[in-house]
Amino acid sequence: MKQSIYAPNQLIEYVYFPTDGIISLVNVTKNGGIVEAATVGNEGMVGIPVLLGGDEMVGQAIVQVAGDAVRMKADIFKREVTPDSTLHNLLLRYTLALMTSISQSVACNSLHSVKQRCCRWLLICHDRVKSDYFELNQEFLAQMLGVQRPTVSGVAITLQQAGLIRYSRGKMTICDRRSLEAACCECYGIVKQEFERLLKDGVAQKWNDGNRNGFGLEAQIQQQVNDQLEHLH
Ligand SMILES: [Zn+2]
Repeated sequence: MKQSIYAPNQLIEYVYFPTDGIISLVNVTKNGGIVEAATVGNEGMVGIPVLLGGDEMVGQAIVQVAGDAVRMKADIFKREVTPDSTLHNLLLRYTLALMTSISQSVACNSLHSVKQRCCRWLLICHDRVKSDYFELNQEFLAQMLGVQRPTVSGVAITLQQAGLIRYSRGKMTICDRRSLEAACCECYGIVKQEFERLLKDGVAQKWNDGNRNGFGLEAQIQQQVNDQLEHLH
């Protein structure tokens, strides 16, 4: 299991803004089964319950791809990010986009093939890491998709044979993004469009346009609460 940021039903101490890592929001069943509800990268924030007046969450948040992030104590966040602020407004719209992503995943998990879902997951990762290459454990990918490892292994072989990816010993390389998009279900595009619509002046502006270094959320954080942040690596 990867590093856990939040455990179920525990007090949320910090909110996190990943800058180039990826964090997964997952749900764990009683018998240890695990499935991903959403991923958060540099377009968003982990700790939405704090924004909405809560103190804990039912699911877990785990680091999916290690990277940099900034974090802020939850009580300072509540004090500084007030409802009249631009950052608060941006984060509410981000929350709506995140809800769309989660609800689309409900449809996707029930109605689309493992291959399509795997392509979607890889595209989402690719959008958020600043490289065509990232480390990805096969067991973890299987967990995130809620399927058995041999199933994921079979899909990875198919995608590799078609020249879309290169995958060996936990190292994933995206070779042909366009074909990966073509092999994916519509869910990826629907969610991406919603992020762009809701956050066109902010968070998702630079999402997936080949220049992932700047985005509205970061600018807003810097303007409003920069001195309250702790930088993590
Ligand atoms: Zn789908």
